[in-house]
Amino acid sequence: PYDVLVIGGGPAGAAAAIYAARKGIRTGVAAERFGGQVLDTMAIENFVSVKETEGPKLAMALEQHVREYDVDIMNLQRASALVPAGDDGLVEIKLENGASLKSRSVILSTGARWRQMNVPGEDQYRNKGVAYCPHCDGPLFKGKRVAVIGGGNSGVEAAIDLAGLVTHVTLLEFDDKLRADDVLQKKLRSLGNVTIITSALTQEVLGDGQKVNGLVYKDRVGGDAHRVELEGVFVQIGLLPNTEWLKDSVALSPRGEVVIDDRGQTSVPGVFAAGDCTTVPYKQIIIAMGAGSTAALSAFDHLIRTNVP
Ligand code: FAD
Repeated sequence: PYDVLVIGGGPAGAAAAIYAARKGIRTGVAAERFGGQVLDTMAIENFVSVKETEGPKLAMALEQHVREYDVDIMNLQRASALVPAGDDGLVEIKLENGASLKSRSVILSTGARWRQMNVPGEDQYRNKGVAYCPHCDGPLFKGKRVAVIGGGNSGVEAAIDLAGLVTHVTLLEFDDKLRADDVLQKKLRSLGNVTIITSALTQEVLGDGQKVNGLVYKDRVGGDAHRVELEGVFVQIGLLPNTEWLKDSVALSPRGEVVIDDRGQTSVPGVFAAGDCTTVPYKQIIIAMGAGSTAALSAFDHLIRTNVP
């Protein structure tokens, strides 16, 4: 069995693996796709101390750093269930391929995925005007016009944030009213460069083949289609944690995030979690790395306090 088994190979999982391996304990990482969301990212400008990098480059650096240590990397492995430790003190992770792995501690770092609109143009112009993270990509749209799709808390927060950076923000909400907290709505309505459109069904992201130049939405009341000229579209209709496989074993928040405490401990003894799959308030590379390191140190702490059976 492993001492520490990390599930997920994004920034959180890579940091956890490095911190665990540096304790000289038996460490493994099982990941469906090593690199995680970073693989889908182009420009990264907020990875502190690195002025600018690209997702695939950072993902490769993550893997190379992990490979400097004696870590079993099991890529293309999808976990399908977690069985808490019994008398033998070992947590079991079942893999989709039928195999199973056992470990004295486990770190869950399976990340999350942005809910997509699934409309024409969204995939074609991803990273070419279609964005999901205002903290990451907001500054790229300085002096430009953008839309935010979604009038929940994240959409309205994004619109307020972007209004301070870009020329104009159009917020589109499917429902006939915004769902964000009143205090956020009030703030949003006080801004001079924001237009709020409700009952709007986004139908297509338009572009010139290279980058976004507009968006089409249907007015759900009148039924007619409208075109908005803009350079960017921020999709804020939900971040879905990759935790479906944990719902019978680990406590999850109403949003499906793994509930953790300050040390990364979950509801299951010996099981820790880090990064976008958890209740951590902000979802960013540098935050996921810090959380992965915390979880690994907590797992080590757990191991030195647990008798080997
Ligand atoms: P992830 O990166 O999501 O990694 C999860 C890992 O778990 C992957 O290896 C995945 O394959 C694996 N996995 C999932 N389910 C299973 C399973 N059942 N079994 C085994 N493995 C599984 N952040 C920034 O700080 N700056 C940016 O500029 C930035 N830009 C972004 C741009 C885009 C387009 C996107 C999508 C995100 C961006 N982010 C950015 C956010 C950042 O990528 C995430 O916060 C970060 O990757 C989270 O790391 P993580 O390790 O928690 O999860």
